[in-house]
Amino acid sequence: MAHDFSSSDPHEISEKASRQEAARKEGFKDLQREVERLRLVVETLVRALVEKGLYTREQINALANLIDMEDGRRDGRIPISRKVKNCSACGKVMMNVSGACVYCGHQEVMDIV
Ligand SMILES: [Zn+2]
Repeated sequence: MAHDFSSSDPHEISEKASRQEAARKEGFKDLQREVERLRLVVETLVRALVEKGLYTREQINALANLIDMEDGRRDGRIPISRKVKNCSACGKVMMNVSGACVYCGHQEVMDIV
């Protein structure tokens, strides 16, 4: 919690702290709404794929595990900061930090910055 207490007026300090707290709460609510919206999008896509008979939930889970492992960690998520890049050989999305495509094995020259 980084509060800026550069002012020496106690009333001003407490007002600033409560404004910061309100902004933090609003930011959390926005994030929660965005996660809930994305959950709805994911569930809609999964049901569409399953109902069309294109994939089973088990196949989708297996693919999700493969994609999760593209950064070398099984943690059930793709960090927001992870850069998305397509393999120049097969065109599939690759996010492996080692630079090797998990689909075709092509060793990609990764951008550092
Ligand atoms: Zn590839």
